Amino acid sequence: MVNFIKRDKDDIYAKPILGFLFKNQKFLLSLKIAVSVLFVYALYFGFAHTGKENTFTTAVFWGIFWSLFMVLTLPSFGRIFCGICPHGFMGKYITKYGLKKTMPKWMQNRFIGVLLLVFGWWGVYYMFPGLFRTAQGTAILFTVMTLIAFVVYFLYKDMSYCKYICPIGTFTRAYAKLSFTWLGTYKSACSDCRTFECATACPYNLKPFTFDNRNSMTDCTLCMDCSSACEAVSFKFKKPSFSLFSKLQPLKAEVWAYILILASISISMSFHHGIGRSNAADIMIWSQTAEFLKNYIDFGSIDTIGLFAFVYALIFTISAALIGMFIASKILKKDFNATFYDLGYSYAPLFILGSIAHSLEMFFLKGYEHITEGFAYGFGFTLDVAPLANRGDGWLHVFGLLKWVAIIWAVIILYKRVKLLEVSRLRKIAAFPFAASLIIFFLGVNMYTGYVFKTYGKASGGHGNHGSEKLFQSVPADKATLLQQGKDKKSCATCGMTLSNSYKANHAAKQNGEIKQFCSMHCLAQEVSINKTELKDLQAVDAKSLKFINAKEAYYVLGSRQRGIMTKSSKFAFADKNDALEFVKANGGEIVTFDEAYKNALKDFRPANTYTFKKPAINDSIYFSQENPAIKKKGYGGGHNHGGARDRVPTKEVWPVFEDDMGNKNCLGTIEAELYLLDANLNTTQTAASKSPGCKSVSFKMPDNGYYNLFYIDKKIHDDTLHVKTAKYEFMRFNHSNDAVYDKEKMAAHTIKETPFDIVRIREDDETFYHNLYSGEKIRVQVLLEGEPLEGADVKLSTKTLWSKSLKTDKDGVATFELIEDYFPKWSEFNKRYKNEFLLTASYMRDIEGDINSTKYEKIRYSATYPSFYYPNSSQYSSYAYGLSAALLSIIVSGFAIYWYRARRQKPFKEVSFNEKD
Ligand code: SF4
Ligand code: SF4
Ligand code: SF4
Repeated sequence: MVNFIKRDKDDIYAKPILGFLFKNQKFLLSLKIAVSVLFVYALYFGFAHTGKENTFTTAVFWGIFWSLFMVLTLPSFGRIFCGICPHGFMGKYITKYGLKKTMPKWMQNRFIGVLLLVFGWWGVYYMFPGLFRTAQGTAILFTVMTLIAFVVYFLYKDMSYCKYICPIGTFTRAYAKLSFTWLGTYKSACSDCRTFECATACPYNLKPFTFDNRNSMTDCTLCMDCSSACEAVSFKFKKPSFSLFSKLQPLKAEVWAYILILASISISMSFHHGIGRSNAADIMIWSQTAEFLKNYIDFGSIDTIGLFAFVYALIFTISAALIGMFIASKILKKDFNATFYDLGYSYAPLFILGSIAHSLEMFFLKGYEHITEGFAYGFGFTLDVAPLANRGDGWLHVFGLLKWVAIIWAVIILYKRVKLLEVSRLRKIAAFPFAASLIIFFLGVNMYTGYVFKTYGKASGGHGNHGSEKLFQSVPADKATLLQQGKDKKSCATCGMTLSNSYKANHAAKQNGEIKQFCSMHCLAQEVSINKTELKDLQAVDAKSLKFINAKEAYYVLGSRQRGIMTKSSKFAFADKNDALEFVKANGGEIVTFDEAYKNALKDFRPANTYTFKKPAINDSIYFSQENPAIKKKGYGGGHNHGGARDRVPTKEVWPVFEDDMGNKNCLGTIEAELYLLDANLNTTQTAASKSPGCKSVSFKMPDNGYYNLFYIDKKIHDDTLHVKTAKYEFMRFNHSNDAVYDKEKMAAHTIKETPFDIVRIREDDETFYHNLYSGEKIRVQVLLEGEPLEGADVKLSTKTLWSKSLKTDKDGVATFELIEDYFPKWSEFNKRYKNEFLLTASYMRDIEGDINSTKYEKIRYSATYPSFYYPNSSQYSSYAYGLSAALLSIIVSGFAIYWYRARRQKPFKEVSFNEKD
């Protein structure tokens, strides 16, 4: 042990600020405690605040720890992520007081951590993309990991969890080889040492004085405990990845970590989230395989395209590495294993630099905002910050250069490692391109992705598309030619859709000399063939020039991969056949005449006289449903895709329905009731149902944040009773975009003067736009008659599973219900937040005489409905987590007890001697 040493200039411990940060034990201890407290608090917060408003837990784990801090520090300062890791920090003390057993040989396998990371994490991520993204999912995941870590620390010595089990351990050990720092010792001091305090201080039982000679820091996590034990420990700046330029003892798991992590993250992401955003997404082998196998296998809620993108990425990447290295080993006349594991270290930069590029780009686009607002929320205050960059900012491309740096860096490492081989120069040159096969493959994937986008273009909403690209058929409003006049000139004459949103599919025609413009051929066909409107001079937009042309002379491309408007089979018109051919080449489909395209459009409709609708009985309640009940029934058609750009004003469509004696939902073929919309700014407007034949629906736009209320008010006299039926649909729109403002004023529930009878859900004081209803929660509803609270009204709450409870309103017109838990998700639905629907029905009879249009009545029967939904209580998910943890703990404890019991029963060998005389 040495108490003083003259440090070299490149020793970080000798630097003024860095020396303090990396060596001062009080500072390091405070930092580790602070990170551990943050870790525990974020876990607690994830269980305590399960809603999507909790961005704190995800900001801590996915915003700072994983994506940013780890990938930024690994190729720079090395494993300092491990140096402050709460598991490692707490594990040190658990191990100290633990059983200190030697980990069984079968567990001392460094592939365990890599395989857990690749298949246990990334494989699951591609199959169930939303599983770990929520605060609660994150908290559950890290709680389970923590429990496993603590049990292993307790049982086994020398921080075996970090060495063999931690999914991050092998990863950080492998990529830290690229860093420009090195922990070692001053040889001059160590040569006379007889005490070796540095080794006894190391919780990992490592010998820092051997690191230089071995050209490896083995499992060192840069916890810096050894540096406090002896001044001869150094932490120096070196050339980046310098240890890879010399001979080293290869570790198989590290080379496989480079390959498998490159495949499961970089290549899978390029396939799924890169090429998946192009128009060629559907023709890629992973999409085709998913589509094909779906015919034979029920994949449930698995994202099959994600799964097969992952599988193919593994197959291609592993094949590229193995085949290339196999040929290289033959050329070099060397053993395959020796070649593969020795030269495989050149793969190290490929993933990590690409990952830095992605992490930095995401930090400027979203991360900064997510982390800042998340931390503010976690510590009880509100911050509204803008992102540091916007998608499309040119300077963000600078991060893309890091991928090319990665390729160059990998080639340099390969060159240096090939140089170390003792074979002829000619063989080295011949083997080089084969040894570089994985680097070439990585380059190829990047270039192919660029080629795909250039050739096929960005998809308007392809699989894995998380961007905000506009749909192919949309144009900016100022680019759309409007042939029709009047206040509604920007909307389709039939369905009301904004014309610019589907401009490239627009049609126009004259009705009594006046031009009508339609969003698509679907609406044109509806007007002509269903509504029997006489239209002349049919025109269509040329999808190339954006000018209107004679529709009957146009070349239509039918059934392309571009999304259809109001139909499943898209139809785009072109003036020039060559333009149509070019479009077919890029998007598929076939060229047809106007008549053939029109005939196809008619397939979207059934003749109006073939629709049959049940009529509601006079006492049947009408309520709004978010689903068209006819879609599930054979023969009603429907299921049109309304298309629409992502940036247009959101629209809600709902269907007034009633239930028959069998409990089946039925839609209405006609609506005689009055319809009103109360918007977020408290303006009431009368509205109308859809005109198209089939189930009647009501659509409304939601331009502003706040509550929208739709009212269906029907008054009919039957026998001597006036039946007043109100169906209310309340929908909250809150856009979480940067400029979105949460306005408490808009939380209040409202009624309108047009409805004599209404039911409102009272908001509680702590309720915000983020609030969801959960089982176990109490809701209060108030029944209003002519705007005044009504005592004695019958109110019933019924759920989808037919549980119901009836109450009478109190003197304030209020009834209070507890939302019960009557749905328990299956394991296959564990990653989904199950929405349980409920319906509130209020009714009241009143003896009062009157008449409507001279038809007299003697009493009035009022009824009102209010549908809504709630989620399972967060405690349910917590109880899954607790159950899982308890099961895990009991398995481990039982295993340990059996082991201990068996060990005690093994009697020590005792020689028995017999007295032969007896
Ligand atoms: S190996 Fe894993 S548990 Fe150990 S310090 Fe590193 S990240 Fe933490
Ligand atoms: S072997 Fe360890 S304790 Fe001994 S002088 Fe070197 S660094 Fe110090
Ligand atoms: S060698 Fe030093 S820094 Fe590395 S793990 Fe051991 S004590 Fe920590």
